[in-house]
Amino acid sequence: MNELIVCPTCKGDFVKEETRWRCPRDGYEVPLYEGKPVFTEMPQTAHVYEKIERGPDAGTPWRQANWKFLQEQISGLDKEALILDVGAGHGDFAAIFRGRNYLAVDIVPYPEVDLACDLAVCVPFKENTFDALALMNVLEHVYHFHELLDALHSLLKPGGSLIIAVPFMIKVHQAPFDFQRYTHYSLEEMARQHGFEVALLEGYYDPIFFLGEATRNLRFWVLPKLPRLARWAGRGILILIEGLVNLLKPLIGKGCVQTPAAAKNPAAIGYQLVLKK
Ligand SMILES: [Zn+2]
Repeated sequence: MNELIVCPTCKGDFVKEETRWRCPRDGYEVPLYEGKPVFTEMPQTAHVYEKIERGPDAGTPWRQANWKFLQEQISGLDKEALILDVGAGHGDFAAIFRGRNYLAVDIVPYPEVDLACDLAVCVPFKENTFDALALMNVLEHVYHFHELLDALHSLLKPGGSLIIAVPFMIKVHQAPFDFQRYTHYSLEEMARQHGFEVALLEGYYDPIFFLGEATRNLRFWVLPKLPRLARWAGRGILILIEGLVNLLKPLIGKGCVQTPAAAKNPAAIGYQLVLKK
């Protein structure tokens, strides 16, 4: 799969040397870090995140919904399909791609990625290369998202899929690299503007998770301000609220995936999309 990585300027093959890859036509050079090419410098302020083990049943309900969604999308692909995981990080979803023709890219040269590159800046692949691109909880971290979407559109084969998960009602995370929250109207418009067809757009709705976030916020903001006794009372009230809502759980049910139109509820935890080229 590494042979898919080409010179970003002439799209020709590299000569692979010990410490760098070099383009014999235009002299473009890319340094290696632990054996992988690094096309763009990672920003000075970026953190390198520690690996958190994730799986189908680990992490927040949103993450679990993402896992199910991605697995369904990937299992529907041809065995030979070429897949690029964009912003793969520590390979949170790598288990889903196991045994497939799969490359992982991130702006940080994590051990789990094949190359480090900001695709909004530099594209070391030929056009029309991949059958599927995964962009799982990445879009909100990309300031130049129009450039990235243009690059991703060019990398997809005609008929290929861009598989996206993007949060909506989720707190700021991985600061300061958290730039956007998109409504589903914005996502649809964005897809159109960049030449994609929206094959699937669904929201993940989860009132219990939503309430959990709200009570965590209250705990954070309110409780430290209260005198000791009142703090105990405040904590008791929050626990009571959570308990009462838990009584409604059988009625509310777990989080669910619906089209935004069917849900009639603007407060999705996040959106999951399949865009076709
Ligand atoms: Zn070149």
